[in-house]
This record gives sequence, structure tokens and C-alpha cells, in this order.
Amino acid sequence: MCYWRRVRNIYTRCGHGVNLPEEEIKCDLVNCKFSPAHRQNCPNCSQTCWQYRQYPQQYSPHIDRLCPTCSNTHR
Ligand SMILES: [Zn+2]
Ligand SMILES: [Zn+2]
Ligand SMILES: [Zn+2]
Repeated sequence: MCYWRRVRNIYTRCGHGVNLPEEEIKCDLVNCKFSPAHRQNCPNCSQTCWQYRQYPQQYSPHIDRLCPTCSNTHR
């Protein structure tokens, strides 16, 4: 099933977090409405296929750097 991935970079040098634009992660299931493998004119789609995405996944990598804003003002 497809889902949205939300990435928030945490910059440990200054402690700030920066949200990145949401990214859609695609699966390859034929019975998922949002999958690239899903048929375009799928008959009985609402009965046979997933009509919604999985719960969004939050991902927060820690980066040992200053955030872009802080690294600009410190230069
Ligand atoms: Zn999917
Ligand atoms: Zn379908
Ligand atoms: Zn910062």
C-alpha cells in the first residue's frame, strides 16, 4: 500500500528541525488504487482494491550540522 512519507531533518548542532515536502511512496500492488501497477479502468475498484493510503510515516534523521538558516547567518 502506498503512503506519504514525512521527513523532518533534525540538525543537532543548533537543535533546529526542518520539514521537507511530503513524499509519496508507491507500492507495486495491483489491488492498490494508487499503485503504478494498478489498472487504469479497474472494474469494481471500490470492492477489490485499497481506496486509501497507509498511515503516513514520520522520519526524523539526525544530521550533525547546522540547519540551512543557521549555517547562512554564521558565514
Ligand atoms: Zn499502494
Ligand atoms: Zn482498482
Ligand atoms: Zn539552526
